[in-house]
Amino acid sequence: MSLPALRLPIASLSGLSLRPLARLRSAPLSPQLLAALCLSVGAASVHAQTGGTSAPASATTTVSATSSIPLNEVQALAAREQPAMLKTLQQLVEIESGSSDREGLERIATVIAQRLKELGGEVTMLEPGSDLYRMFDTPQKPGPMVQARFKGGGGRSKVLLIAHMDTVYPRGMLAQQPFRIEGQRAYGLGIADDKQGVATILHVLALLKSVGWKDCGEITVLINGDEEISSPASRHRITQLGSEHDAVLSFEGGGGPDGPDTLRLATSGIGAATLTVKGRSSHAGAAPERGVNALYELSHQVLQARDLSDPKVGRQVHWTVSKSGVVRNMIPPSAEASADVRVERVEDFDWVEAELRRRIQNKLLPEAEVSLSFERRRPPLHASPASRSMAERLQSLAAEQGLPLTVKDVPTGGGTDAAFAAAATQAPVVEGFGVRGFGAHSTQAEFVQLDSIAPKMVLVARTLMMLGKQDRSGTQASKP
Ligand SMILES: [Zn+2]
Repeated sequence: MSLPALRLPIASLSGLSLRPLARLRSAPLSPQLLAALCLSVGAASVHAQTGGTSAPASATTTVSATSSIPLNEVQALAAREQPAMLKTLQQLVEIESGSSDREGLERIATVIAQRLKELGGEVTMLEPGSDLYRMFDTPQKPGPMVQARFKGGGGRSKVLLIAHMDTVYPRGMLAQQPFRIEGQRAYGLGIADDKQGVATILHVLALLKSVGWKDCGEITVLINGDEEISSPASRHRITQLGSEHDAVLSFEGGGGPDGPDTLRLATSGIGAATLTVKGRSSHAGAAPERGVNALYELSHQVLQARDLSDPKVGRQVHWTVSKSGVVRNMIPPSAEASADVRVERVEDFDWVEAELRRRIQNKLLPEAEVSLSFERRRPPLHASPASRSMAERLQSLAAEQGLPLTVKDVPTGGGTDAAFAAAATQAPVVEGFGVRGFGAHSTQAEFVQLDSIAPKMVLVARTLMMLGKQDRSGTQASKP
């Protein structure tokens, strides 16, 4: 459902919304003022629904039927919040937190937990548990998760906000990419993926706190420390939390540096298949017949499993890495190959695994031993009816502030934790609420666009206001 903005003459609104910005900056809204303001917006909505929409006047303010605080005030608050957000970004970037850097992850988790506590959250530090899904690259002890719950004050719906604090970069790389601001860009290691996501959540909550906004059932924040290694410790909790909330907002980067802001409703499922061949070594010159050449067997296996892709259903299986042998003059006793697997349907994981298990029975060298390990690293995220409907409302909210917003509803090959959040719920799950930037997972300088920060904070704040007013089934409440 799309909710158009209402253009109302200022005279039809409470004078409260017209307070000079200077006063707004120095004094947060009191609960009484806020209540009066909510009422005034509610009255305006009813007025419009009964056919009394007024023509735009020269002095107008834009008020959404979904918002309890007028857009221009939210924009002023976001602009006021931006310098503090940049300080937070610097603080987060300056703590190196690679997915295997337990010490760094503990330090950054402590900082984030403290900030969430100061914002009024009930904060829990969660360690990896017995439900850990161990993959080949899972560290002995992955990083902790920071969970914070914020109780609302009268609204109904529960919203989950997720972002991650780990990066792909090992300790020591910060020196090449320290935090710095140049023109319209803030640079720093891990700033786009995903320290901006953490900072955006913290400062939107700060913005809402500054005006005493509590018009929701509950907001839960989960910041994990293992996203870049496919969330071995956090995946089950993210799925569980997703099923307990009425909407999930995920804060990976929201588009490239030149725009437009981009939200994603679908992402790819990612798997990894590894074939391991055990042969027998022997002198390659003196007694090759006594060996079992693992490289020959591996080559046979890879070639007979090279046709598992099917673009019609979004299934891709590509063999990408192989290794074998010890030295040139030894028949190789072992060999291994890995394939990258992408799916749009979760059942294709089962199909690929079963098909590989069937095919490896057919061997070139009967004495070779062939085994398969298959990792389901991430499920796919589908564009659901609920997420499509929410995206339409988000586009209306973005349009009100003149923010171009693209919504992608087919996967483009990447995968994120949004898919875990959506695994056991029909509720809307939307990825890409973070600010625009560039340079994730590369050795090129990573940055975020400064002019993307305030508009994105406004969009997130107004999204929470919109969601806060709907009931648990996702229907817009009749009264704010
Ligand atoms: Zn990320």
